[in-house]
Amino acid sequence: MAVIRFTALEKVYDRKPIHVTPPSKKVSDYFGENVFDEVKMQKFLSKDAYTHVKDSVLKGTPIDRKMADGVATGMKAWAMERGATHYTHWFQPLTGGTAEKHDAFMEEGEYGNVVEAFSGKALAQQEPDASSFPSGGLRNTFEARGYTAWDPSSPAFVIGNTLSIPTVFISYTGEALDHKTPLLKALNNVDKAATEVCQYFDKNVTRVKSNLGWEQEYFLIDEALYYARPDLALTGRTLMGHASAKDQQLDDHYFSSIPERVGAFMNELEYEAYKLGIPVKTRHNEVAPNQYELAPVFAECNLAVDHNLLLMELMKKVSRHHGFRVLFHEKPFKGINGTGKHNNWSLSTDTGVILHAPGKNPKSNLQFLTFVVNSIKAVYDNQDLMRASILTATNTHRLGANEAPPAILSCFLGAEVTKMLDQLEEQVTDRKMTPDEKTELKLDIGKIPEILLDNTDRNRTSPFAFTGNRFEFRAVGGLANCAVPMAVLNTAMAKQLKEFKVDVDSLIDKGVKKDEAIFQILRNYIKASKPIRFEGDNYSEDWVKEAKKRGLTNITDVPEAISAYNSKSSKELFFSENIFGEKELDGRVEVMYENYIMKIQIEARVLGDMAINHIVPTAVKYQNVLMDNVLRLKELYGDEYKALAGNRIELIREISTHVTQIKNMVNEMVEERKIANVIENIEKKSHAYSKKVFPYLEKIRIHIDKLELIVDDEMWPLPKYRELLFSS
Ligand code: ADP
Ligand code: MG
Repeated sequence: MAVIRFTALEKVYDRKPIHVTPPSKKVSDYFGENVFDEVKMQKFLSKDAYTHVKDSVLKGTPIDRKMADGVATGMKAWAMERGATHYTHWFQPLTGGTAEKHDAFMEEGEYGNVVEAFSGKALAQQEPDASSFPSGGLRNTFEARGYTAWDPSSPAFVIGNTLSIPTVFISYTGEALDHKTPLLKALNNVDKAATEVCQYFDKNVTRVKSNLGWEQEYFLIDEALYYARPDLALTGRTLMGHASAKDQQLDDHYFSSIPERVGAFMNELEYEAYKLGIPVKTRHNEVAPNQYELAPVFAECNLAVDHNLLLMELMKKVSRHHGFRVLFHEKPFKGINGTGKHNNWSLSTDTGVILHAPGKNPKSNLQFLTFVVNSIKAVYDNQDLMRASILTATNTHRLGANEAPPAILSCFLGAEVTKMLDQLEEQVTDRKMTPDEKTELKLDIGKIPEILLDNTDRNRTSPFAFTGNRFEFRAVGGLANCAVPMAVLNTAMAKQLKEFKVDVDSLIDKGVKKDEAIFQILRNYIKASKPIRFEGDNYSEDWVKEAKKRGLTNITDVPEAISAYNSKSSKELFFSENIFGEKELDGRVEVMYENYIMKIQIEARVLGDMAINHIVPTAVKYQNVLMDNVLRLKELYGDEYKALAGNRIELIREISTHVTQIKNMVNEMVEERKIANVIENIEKKSHAYSKKVFPYLEKIRIHIDKLELIVDDEMWPLPKYRELLFSS
């Protein structure tokens, strides 16, 4: 039988780009056509129902049943025009992806006929079986039943023939079973806290929203090769594979021209995304071969999170039309760049001001500095939790590996902002400032250039970088649901802003003037959070040492990182901000440990199988060829054969060594798994997986990769890196 790798490669050679005929319309003609947005709501809803939904979105007022009926009727009418026959609640369980359960509009009518029905109740609530989704301890302590409830702040959309309604997912006893619920709470909190702080500067502000602009990186791999790699198909990454002689050394992929087949994929993807109202804007080749990036125009955080999840689903679907598989795994290939999802984050007011962007005068710039300094303080105080929100079994391979920020959290600010903070730190004192000092400081603050984007040197090594009008959280992984880090960041910011308000007000109560009170508190925060500020190269060894000196934490072990969710300060944060209750938090952390264990368990099994079923037999086969050769030489040349076959005899021995090592280590790994599997305490079990099982993945792989270099190419069963990476 032919080696499956070659059958796959033949398919790749035969591929032609598949162009989906682009519609002969402008993007603006079909943008959002499958979204039940403002325009459609106005058209399909009564005035009352429309106002009701708007109020609910803006003020959080509950939607009453009668109004829900009205909204459902309008939504159904619109969806049926778009060809919908079914509806589903669309939610984000703790699995990390999205979930849906479709129901038909079809119902039996009064006279045995069939009608299309969609009630307010069906819009507002659905009951998927919660017991099949991860819930951590909640499953044992509470009733398994859960329900999904409509989130009117993210518009419904039609995809295929299904009306999809974004929802939260909660248990009957009220605990969140998803990633959207905590995010919505966090966004609400940051809105309230930031609006209060804005009152110091502008009384007209009544709402502050959190913005998110994500940048999604991904790899495209030919489908035939993907299927020939069980590790890719089952774990999302290659568990073995020797480096290709050429990969990204020449830096010739970044921003280079997009291959035609990939371009055809991107065109179809963008068309589908636009119809769903996802404002994708930027596309380009990334650093690694076969790696690409896509970014939309930023949007309100909850909507942006939904868009990202929806887009990832679309990418999986559309890539198949083009004979590709899309990889979001943070490190699909050892030794070359991994996949991140930068989260660009800012706050902005309903008066149209981006609070993380400098303004035009001293007052707006003091507001800007207030928000920047509070952001830094929030990150400093919650560095462990921030890390816990992004460190997963998959992302751990990326962090700290040449191209990605390390597991040490730090903030980059750029020269301008750094200078301003240094000035505040030096010039402001506890004593009352003279009018001259105050004027001078205000003048300096007023001089912050309105546009920092151009003069902010872009430090691409920083995990949390200020980039002119936003912070960019770069440590987020390609597979992540952005709701997780965004819930943590916005919660931390909400708490921080509340503290700021209390601190400033207490000085004002003591008779300090408002501006001076703000200066003083900012100075205190600047001093307190100084260790987290770093402008240098985050990839360097020196930084690791320096960070340690500064008392910053550097945790690369996933279970250890996760435990930050359970620390005293995290609990205080989550409970005081009402994001999670105690049991809810326990449940969530349990799911994180569980998830880690499962991922490593699966990788260990897959590697074990492949090592024993694919690699060892291939190596032995090749070894037999060599032995055959040596024996024949002996037959022909007698004693002289040793001189002639010298290096082959060495090779035979070398193969034996690797094969023996592989077999022994696979056995040892299985034994470690057995020991770990009977540990009852989930945290301890995850540590056993991390410390005892996980190291074998790398140790075994080294021997396999050595064999790949030795064994006859024609016998090697798995597509090699050079084939996986250069096939589009
Ligand atoms: P780069 O690769 O240079 O970091 P990109 O253009 O790829 O930048 O992506 C930047 C992302 O940041 C985009 O999604 C963009 O809309 C978003 N963005 C820009 N300004 C803001 C802001 N003030 N708040 C949040 N996101 C922003
Ligand atoms: Mg970026």
